[in-house]
Amino acid sequence: MPDTHETVHIRKTQAGCGLCEDFAAREASKPIVVMACEGACLRGELARLAANHLCDEILPDRTARLCLGGAFTKDTGQRNLARRAERLVAIEGCPIACSTRMMEAVLPGLEPEVFQVPALVRFDARLFSIREMPEAERKAKAVEAAELVAGAL
Ligand code: SF4
Repeated sequence: MPDTHETVHIRKTQAGCGLCEDFAAREASKPIVVMACEGACLRGELARLAANHLCDEILPDRTARLCLGGAFTKDTGQRNLARRAERLVAIEGCPIACSTRMMEAVLPGLEPEVFQVPALVRFDARLFSIREMPEAERKAKAVEAAELVAGAL
């Protein structure tokens, strides 16, 4: 059998975040759920900022912003947002496509609509870390990416 998957064991926890659960309950009626790489590099940061801008500023009535860590590590309200979404959107920073692959692992059969930040906005491809791009430029690039995603929705 080809070595195409790896098995991970996530330690279960009784701990929870009430605020996160309340948010998930409030957002459950939104038709579009948006997840993103929450990454530590520039591309991941642009994906994160774009997802936030899309959900908070452009389409707040139609979109819910998924907590990727919560949805991946616990089968509670955040995972239900992804499970029950009419449309699930992933904004990724790079081809690793972490949010897409993480959520596919816990919800087999998931088919998110995937957007890649480097395909949405132009920037110097040699840049890697967040600090290599000034904050105002990061924000502008993320807004541009978010507007393009919104246009496709
Ligand atoms: S997954 Fe890709 S985009 Fe996200 S932080 Fe890692 S290298 Fe950056």
